[in-house]
Amino acid sequence: MLDPLKVKKDFPIFKRKIEGKEIIYLDNAATTQKPYVVIDAIKNYYENFNSNVHRGIYKLSEESTDLYEKSRKNISEFIGAPDPRGLVFVRNTTEALNLVASSIGQGLKKDDEVLLTMMEHHSNIVPWQFLKAKGVKIKFADIKDDGTLDVDDYVSKITPMTKVASVTHVSNVLGAINDVKELGKIVHEKDITFIVDGAQSVPHMPVDVKDIDCDFFAFSGHKMVGPMGIGGLYGKPDLLEKLPPYMGGGDMIKSVTTEESTWNEIPYKFEAGTQNVADAVGLSAAADYLRKLGMKDIRKHETELMLYAFQEERYVEGLKSFGPRSLHLRAGVYSFNCGEVPAFDIEKELSGERIKISKGSMHPHDIASEMDKEGIAVRSGHHCAMPLMARLDVQATARASFYIYNTKEDIDKFFIELNNSITRFAH
Ligand code: PMP
Repeated sequence: MLDPLKVKKDFPIFKRKIEGKEIIYLDNAATTQKPYVVIDAIKNYYENFNSNVHRGIYKLSEESTDLYEKSRKNISEFIGAPDPRGLVFVRNTTEALNLVASSIGQGLKKDDEVLLTMMEHHSNIVPWQFLKAKGVKIKFADIKDDGTLDVDDYVSKITPMTKVASVTHVSNVLGAINDVKELGKIVHEKDITFIVDGAQSVPHMPVDVKDIDCDFFAFSGHKMVGPMGIGGLYGKPDLLEKLPPYMGGGDMIKSVTTEESTWNEIPYKFEAGTQNVADAVGLSAAADYLRKLGMKDIRKHETELMLYAFQEERYVEGLKSFGPRSLHLRAGVYSFNCGEVPAFDIEKELSGERIKISKGSMHPHDIASEMDKEGIAVRSGHHCAMPLMARLDVQATARASFYIYNTKEDIDKFFIELNNSITRFAH
């Protein structure tokens, strides 16, 4: 059993007070707080081992390389990757998806199709849209009204021209968990490359890329109590070997002449330039920390918090929350609106015009700023998922997202303050 109050003590930031109040941090889908073990691992690296990897033949560089490669192995194991050569260190999920879209994109032709879904984060849409310049077409599978993926629509959008399917494991707005193993089977039958955006799954539930059998898998360290600026792209080694590099420079080459270059082995072919060694070491410490808590227990804890939120939300008049209600299909992301929030209007969004909200309703930004006065951190806006906002017919939502240090008391305070804010706004 995970004890969130005990967990909280591992995180120095919770000693801080905001406006004299304890921090209630409910923006974990954006980024998570860092425990001492991660901060200490980074500090220890810089104090004792700092040097460039794969280059020097001196002690510090050898030790640094050893730490970097051990981190790669540990993080590979954490996501169930059988071979550490399949884990490329990148800055974050965004970079991982840009890498894979750009490199795969080199092999795509006019009228080839990429299949996405309506619940994707911009980082799993925009890199694919870059390929439109080559005539590549992008299709979006719809969601159902209950906030789950419409698998029938997904299947119907597959054509002989579909070459790539990329899908989020967990929606950062709806909290919906997609059955990526099943989707992978469907697309692999048609010889389609299958990519999973694991930004919202790796931190919150056991993930096994081998079991999912995806071709590529992207994730961010900072969402799993690790440092910002480090993440991973897992790829099946034989596919990574065939893929052209994304960035050119030092470390990614075998040889360079004035005429041409040849590439280093994987994963180094995709790791041009000086790498973020300290944060790879920090991420490895984060993986150890989460493993010790137990990924199954983390998932169970968040499910309990979500169930509690579902029970308590009925006391807030006019509240509408989004996403599936079945807990086995739902991660700890809770998006909601209070009263009527007008439909998505791209012109207004672009102009930055503040949309008008009817009396008795509250704009998500007002919810977030009112909550902030009580030390409660929640998110508001489009959550980098504008197509999904349009599909849900809302301009924006507020969002609370849970993690290992959140308690039922946090959720109580959140709903009490939500009610207080609505009352203040109504007068
Ligand atoms: N995909 C999903 C589902 C996300 O939630 C996020 C972060 N909100 C990203 C991708 C992008 O992650 P990052 O900003 O760490 O690159």
